[in-house]
Amino acid sequence: MFHSSDTGMIVNAQPGSEKDEEPPGSRAEVTFDDFHERLSSPIPSDHVSPLISNTSKSFKQKTTHFRKTFFPGVTEKEWNDWRWQAQNCITRPEHLKRFLSMSVEEEAYFARSMSELPLKITPYYMSLLVGLESNHPLRKTVVPTIHEWFKAPCEENDPLNEESQSPVHGLVHRYPDRVLLLVLDFCATYCRYCTRSRVVGKGTIHPQKSRLEKAIDYIRNTPTVRDVLLSGGDPLLLSDERLEWILKQLRQIPHVEIIRIGTKVPSVLPQRITPKLVRMLKKYHPLWMSLHFIHPAECNDASQKACKLLAEAGIPLGSQTVLLKGVNDSVETMKALVQSLMKMRVRPYYLYQCDLVSGTSHFRTTVQKGIDIIRGLRGHTSGYAVPNYVIDAPGGGGKIPVTPNYILEHATDGLTLSNYADQHFHYPEPLDRSDARCPMEAPYV
Ligand code: SF4
Repeated sequence: MFHSSDTGMIVNAQPGSEKDEEPPGSRAEVTFDDFHERLSSPIPSDHVSPLISNTSKSFKQKTTHFRKTFFPGVTEKEWNDWRWQAQNCITRPEHLKRFLSMSVEEEAYFARSMSELPLKITPYYMSLLVGLESNHPLRKTVVPTIHEWFKAPCEENDPLNEESQSPVHGLVHRYPDRVLLLVLDFCATYCRYCTRSRVVGKGTIHPQKSRLEKAIDYIRNTPTVRDVLLSGGDPLLLSDERLEWILKQLRQIPHVEIIRIGTKVPSVLPQRITPKLVRMLKKYHPLWMSLHFIHPAECNDASQKACKLLAEAGIPLGSQTVLLKGVNDSVETMKALVQSLMKMRVRPYYLYQCDLVSGTSHFRTTVQKGIDIIRGLRGHTSGYAVPNYVIDAPGGGGKIPVTPNYILEHATDGLTLSNYADQHFHYPEPLDRSDARCPMEAPYV
């Protein structure tokens, strides 16, 4: 089996162990040698990326074509088993080259030793990338380039100063009424712009009970905490049983009102969202989820099905998107993303200015770009579809909303406002009525 070092920590994650899901087929599992041999053979010339192929083909047909081309011994059941996906991630440059024709900038990255952030892409997400040019938005977010080796003077490994706001290892307490609990440090796919690249994939934040118990004790002993966000790494890479253990512990704490889970699984490993998982999750309401989507090309049949399962379990879904240069930094792309998310019952929640993480300057746009995008959304599409654009303050100051300025003048008698179409309006402030006569004495006219 093709194991990455970290996915080996998926607790009880044996393919086909959940009785109510389709188990993998009975044929022998693909061995590393089998897989490696396939990786050494030439890319079939007729393979076309799902995203650039004829749109009349169904998404399923395209995925099947990818699977049969690159994983010919793998059944559909295995492909749709999240454990198979997690255990067969692409984690080595030589494997990457099997799927993608490497650009000079990508080759240059691998010519040096690996950077802080490991390489990892699920087979499913790779099926979205094959056939795409190296400058395609999706590919840029998961395939490293030489630009990651450049560290700008303003960049830090821990730009949000999480380490100094961690009273317990793996728990960040920044705001008064909520905490961030990092349950593990691995993800299904590593985003090249990750704020937590200093820890993800390093194996220093383990999901074992002894560590988690210390974090949960802190929450139990801190009555001001009414909201716990589980993140990481990706909490949904835990087995259902281990994740339920955490949720159950938290639900037994009376002052914990809200539990949230931050995850990128619906976009990179939608197979993980199973009926069994959502049946378990719905026992722990009110449970909210923040889903990490960055581009409309991630919104397809598979991610839609995953979101549908979550939404039908009564889980309110919000999205978190990082504003990334050359990926989603246009009104057109962002509008397509937020409108696609709305159709998937995901409410666009945050648009983040890219944090000052070491090696990410090639992803960072100006703040004005983000403001222009919000201005291009507000009024031009449903208000529900407009996310909050925020800068997570360097040094740990928390999220600060950044909005276009619609107030042209604010005088004592009222405001001059600009609407979405740049038309101007006067809105009067309430009158100073301190010297007005009693309305009972002066009838309204
Ligand atoms: S899913 Fe989140 S935590 Fe994981 S690599 Fe991407 S941004 Fe980082």
